[in-house]
Amino acid sequence: MSEGPKICGACNENIPNHWVIGLDKFWHQDCFCCGVCGRVVDAKETFYEKDGKPVCHRCQTKNFVEKCGVCQEPIIGNRMIYKDIHYHYTCLNCKKCGQPFKEEQHDQIKILENGDFVHDNC
Ligand SMILES: [Zn+2]
Ligand SMILES: [Zn+2]
Ligand SMILES: [Zn+2]
Ligand SMILES: [Zn+2]
Repeated sequence: MSEGPKICGACNENIPNHWVIGLDKFWHQDCFCCGVCGRVVDAKETFYEKDGKPVCHRCQTKNFVEKCGVCQEPIIGNRMIYKDIHYHYTCLNCKKCGQPFKEEQHDQIKILENGDFVHDNC
């Protein structure tokens, strides 16, 4: 059974051996580079796609991270997501008691039909 030539998704050259598979294409190991910083991406690490090229996790976090719907600062890590808008927990206040939420309280946050966030027990 012949597997046919492996053509690199970046340079379109034949890959004799040591190819990597990513984004449904074959790549030379050295050609599988982050489209933003140019760093060689290990196909086993977490990466994303932009314009048919891999984007490494670091660049993805830096360039395409969601911004908080309240303070407009980027959100790394835990966030509250409501209707595709991301929020820092600490940027949200309970509409009833006025206290900000804490990350560890996330299962106590209730979202009312009008979009207000309240403590479950408020
Ligand atoms: Zn190549
Ligand atoms: Zn990168
Ligand atoms: Zn915020
Ligand atoms: Zn409250």
